[in-house]
Amino acid sequence: MRLEYLAVALLVWNLAVFAIFGIDKSKAKRGDRRVSEIALLLIAFFLGAVGALAGMLVFRHKTRKLKFKILVPIAFLLNAAIAIGGGYMMTMANELTEMSPIPTGEFLPGIYAVESGYVNCFLIRRGDKYIMIDAGMSVRQLEDGLATLGISADDVGAVLMTHTHGDHTAGLQLVDGVDVYGMNPDIANVELSDGETFEILGAEFMSIATPGHTYDSVSYLYDGRYLFSGDNLSLQANNVGLFVSVFNDSDAQQEADIAKLARLDGVEYIVTSHHGFTDNPIFP
Ligand SMILES: [Zn+2]
Repeated sequence: MRLEYLAVALLVWNLAVFAIFGIDKSKAKRGDRRVSEIALLLIAFFLGAVGALAGMLVFRHKTRKLKFKILVPIAFLLNAAIAIGGGYMMTMANELTEMSPIPTGEFLPGIYAVESGYVNCFLIRRGDKYIMIDAGMSVRQLEDGLATLGISADDVGAVLMTHTHGDHTAGLQLVDGVDVYGMNPDIANVELSDGETFEILGAEFMSIATPGHTYDSVSYLYDGRYLFSGDNLSLQANNVGLFVSVFNDSDAQQEADIAKLARLDGVEYIVTSHHGFTDNPIFP
């Protein structure tokens, strides 16, 4: 459901509630049969508090009744909380459904994606071992993905963490005991710093601190060509942009992170955690 439709529905409903207060006021003046007070209060609580408040003020209706003076403002606060909370949840739900992870499989030579809900984790083949980047949103989905790829969890030699949001860490239990690299000491036993170059199974990596998404967010440049960007940017038809704002700690910091990533030499591919990959990134 689109947020705009709900907003219009709410507006129409509150205009109706406003009209009901007006009609009741004119009935009161004429001495006609009235709308019950309980009904007026109920429609206020049922997401009609803005219309009810406006009706009370504009038509000077029920403004001397204590229960209206107390209950309608309470209904307004409740309605506001529901609207803000509901709007936030719907925005998040819409963003999640618009994400486009890579289907489980080998999408670049020697680089595999595991689709885990709306997020990817990745495996880089090095001989008969694998380096995993992030761990997906569930043990079960990581297990299924590895089975589809014919990779055993025992063959994972190390894990690089882009950050510690739950949809990137949940599968870690499956590879218990391997070295975990990252910038958060709570989860990583090999703690990295910004601009550090390191080698795992003969593969070269550089860690780039990109703290706009979360304070512990890292991007990894693999083999000087493949940039694993985690949640530090989004891709829409090759265009690099901010990640989903509601999930970011700081959009302003992320803009600086993206500018920093744009200055890296040699990047041929950007591989994101939620928005697929590109061999033709267009930076803002
Ligand atoms: Zn995240």
